[in-house]
Amino acid sequence: MLFFVGSGGGRFAMITQTRRTGGFRLETEEVSIHFDPGPGALLATRLAGRSTTAVDAVVVSHAHPDHYTEAEVVVEAMTRGGIKNRGYFVGSASAVEGYKGEEGSFGPVLSDYHRSLPEATVALEPGDTFTIGDVTLEATPTVHGDPTGVGFRVELEDDLLYYTSDTELRGFVIDAAEDATILVANVTRPGSDRIRGHLCTSDLVEVVKEARDLRKVFMTHFGMKMIKRGPGREANSVQKRTGVTTVAARDGHVYDL
Ligand SMILES: [Zn+2]
Repeated sequence: MLFFVGSGGGRFAMITQTRRTGGFRLETEEVSIHFDPGPGALLATRLAGRSTTAVDAVVVSHAHPDHYTEAEVVVEAMTRGGIKNRGYFVGSASAVEGYKGEEGSFGPVLSDYHRSLPEATVALEPGDTFTIGDVTLEATPTVHGDPTGVGFRVELEDDLLYYTSDTELRGFVIDAAEDATILVANVTRPGSDRIRGHLCTSDLVEVVKEARDLRKVFMTHFGMKMIKRGPGREANSVQKRTGVTTVAARDGHVYDL
């Protein structure tokens, strides 16, 4: 199942906390993986009545604050306050090693201390894979502010889940969704109101129309304009235009796959 800790994204939703910004947890029979723990991740988990410490891996797709600011404290939760060397930290090169280049400077998002706590800390580039229990992650490319940012194709027992992370629409997004059964899309903007580095609702429709096997689409990472327009209405319009069940994630809600 998917537990949406927070469904907000982008700097204005984040600084106003109009929607929470804690990312989401994927829970399988064997593991619980926290993706993109932004500001408020632990508090929102607690307020939703769920265990903050029942987590086996922390995954950070790129080094923007709405995706990583609580990575260290979720690592502490995972390692029982830093006492038990357990679990995994998986991230983009920027999140794990740090990146400095023409595009700017990003990460690393963990102190050396926090980096030493999990059983392993792993940087993934597009195409790389890493297995945690019954889940295999494969990093996918993105086009976004952080040039090392990645999305993930997540192989589950009966499903292939694709998490776009933050990216604009390119051929590789359509390719990665093509044989996925579940899509988690960061749709920052409503309608055709496209901005650089992000998906809007019309982009999502294009992706879903091209995908063969999709059963369910989750929209999340809503920016202020999306929140004002109404993510539920946007999800309805995606469903109407594609015929695929589409859900607008709500803060603190749990969804079956
Ligand atoms: Zn971002």
